[in-house]
Amino acid sequence: MRAHRPTPEFPHHLALLYARFPFERSLADDPISVLRPLGRDRRRAEIAGVVGSTLAIGNTTAIRGAIGRLAGITDGDLARLVDPSWAAERSRRLASFRHRWIRGDQLDHLAEVLTDYYADRPSLETAFLGGWERGGFAAGLDALARTLRGSGRAPAGYRALFPSPLDASASPCKRLTLFLRWMVRTEYPDFGLWSRVPTGALCIPLDQHVHWIAYHLGLTSRRTRSWAAVEEVSEALRRIDPIDPTRYDFVLCHTGISGDCPKHRDLSVCGPCSVRPDCRLWQGRGIAV
Ligand code: SF4
Repeated sequence: MRAHRPTPEFPHHLALLYARFPFERSLADDPISVLRPLGRDRRRAEIAGVVGSTLAIGNTTAIRGAIGRLAGITDGDLARLVDPSWAAERSRRLASFRHRWIRGDQLDHLAEVLTDYYADRPSLETAFLGGWERGGFAAGLDALARTLRGSGRAPAGYRALFPSPLDASASPCKRLTLFLRWMVRTEYPDFGLWSRVPTGALCIPLDQHVHWIAYHLGLTSRRTRSWAAVEEVSEALRRIDPIDPTRYDFVLCHTGISGDCPKHRDLSVCGPCSVRPDCRLWQGRGIAV
């Protein structure tokens, strides 16, 4: 079967989707709405980003709840996680924490890894750049994942929290790519802390909502999420906006989360959809992935 491709007018349709999107409605639902108040300065924002992206599993309500519980554990100051003098109290308070399959002892170990890292380096950007300068974005994520995995003994399942695109599994690395988006993009609501990584180098955080719509718009022909699919979707968006390809991530993701897209051809809902001419479901060609 011939691969589905968006229409030549797709960049215009995507721009309309972006321009008409109710950002304020969806921002309230997004995990970054609870992370931003915790990122009072550069160090705290980076810690908020790394622990928030680590917890970004499941629906947005559960993720916001998990971040809120972590904020409560640290009395509202995430910098306490990397304060060596607070390590024993941190372990005690985190002991009963649980979010999906992520346990408190794993977060405690992450805090220990970050404490050691920050002892002589100012930012995780240094870790990313070490790989990026050698081999591009995937190598940068690999270097960051290896840094966060740490060395020595770790709790069961800890290292699996930080997959790399260079692993044999070729994971889409949704949580680390989301962390990079938050750190690099300067446009609200992202933090824009890292200045040495250009926005044009970013890859899309390919969660199930973004993958679903990207597949049905013909930005990838891959029906399963993988690093190869991340690169395909990112390249398609880079052709539209070489300077800032991930600017569309929030809109594509929340079009799915909000129910703006019913994920099937529905005359009553698809009518105002700006990308309708490009959608394989609207054209009656699609199969849901
Ligand atoms: S046309 Fe309908 S199914 Fe296709 S992307 Fe738009 S809202 Fe979703």
